[in-house]
Amino acid sequence: MNLLIKNARLVATPDDPPVDIAIDGGKIVAIGPALSGDGEMYDAGGRLACAGLIETHIHLDKSRIIDRCPLPEGRRVNPVTTVAPLKPAMSVEDIYARAETTLKECLVNGATRMRTQVEIDPAMGLRGFEAINALATAYKWAIDIEPCVFPQDGLTNYPGTEELLVEALKAGAPVLGAAPRYDSDPTAQVDRIFALAREYDVSLDLHLDVGDSTEHMDVRRVLELTEQYKLGGRVVVGHMAKLSLMPPAESAAMARRLADAGIAVTVLPATDLYLMGRDRDHDVRRGVADVNHLHEHGVTCSLSSNNILNPATPYGDCSLIRIANLHANILQVVGPKKLRELFLMLSEHSARLLNLKDYGLAVGNPADIAIIDAQTPEQAVAEIRPPLAVWKRGRRTVTRQPPELHVPA
Ligand SMILES: [Zn+2]
Repeated sequence: MNLLIKNARLVATPDDPPVDIAIDGGKIVAIGPALSGDGEMYDAGGRLACAGLIETHIHLDKSRIIDRCPLPEGRRVNPVTTVAPLKPAMSVEDIYARAETTLKECLVNGATRMRTQVEIDPAMGLRGFEAINALATAYKWAIDIEPCVFPQDGLTNYPGTEELLVEALKAGAPVLGAAPRYDSDPTAQVDRIFALAREYDVSLDLHLDVGDSTEHMDVRRVLELTEQYKLGGRVVVGHMAKLSLMPPAESAAMARRLADAGIAVTVLPATDLYLMGRDRDHDVRRGVADVNHLHEHGVTCSLSSNNILNPATPYGDCSLIRIANLHANILQVVGPKKLRELFLMLSEHSARLLNLKDYGLAVGNPADIAIIDAQTPEQAVAEIRPPLAVWKRGRRTVTRQPPELHVPA
């Protein structure tokens, strides 16, 4: 045994007494009370342990560009047309440097797994894909990164985009995304993306349904195609902000359809809070889908950051726990049970959404472990408690000291 973590409360059973976690050869070899060993020892002091946080949806490639963008005029903002003119000047080195800074922030905030969206089109070429692949290799010691390639600026209206996506899929991109809202023919984009997923046997993770009304919802076509192609369990839809515009009975019915079809939902509170309700100049709606409500109706859900310091999300510090706290405020979440669920949407449920088979504090799994400075998941979310220590495959990757107050003697 080369590492023993003492006195940790497990995220799956935080009401049980703390236990010890023994690690050897990068894997968890035992979990139980009063384990002993001769290797390195860490005393968690009764704090919460999880297998690291999971960033299921983030755009590393276009993080940290807010200072390059003109300030929006008026209430309406279009992050896509704001970013598009910047793309030709983004080199592999530029993308890598910005993505690396953001990734480091994600690491110190407890992330051990990540799916990152990567834009591909003729203006960006494959430079983002190249930079993110290089970053994933360089930081393999700290995090597993899965790229999701997608057309941000349209597919059917942007010649050359599909050829580049195919090139990335042939080069091994494991997940394909979409952004039909920015296509001149949203339904045709969804159809094309599903056809490509079928041809290249990849999972799907689509940006879906942000806007002012529920009149047109791309998720309806996604439901049809997921059932037709039998892709249940391999389709994620991100945002789904329009669910927040529906009365509860209607959104519950939609949630049950998603659950039955095997479509998971990632809610991105920071972005949707910033982008929704732009049609109004007062009484602005919050515009964030209620993950607890979706979960209640059987949908696998995660919460994620989406963007950091860019025109879609100008603020953020890569703390997923802060995102869960923000969500709790926006949705007026009440009670420890729902707060606990929110923590699981940064961890256990996120793992299910990404189909991660080896995630979790269990014997035989890789020793990915984060100790959170809280006794319970609900306390972590309520008080935005940070991780104090993180290990990836049994090797310490993060140490974070709690701040100290210097009281006069
Ligand atoms: Zn996104």
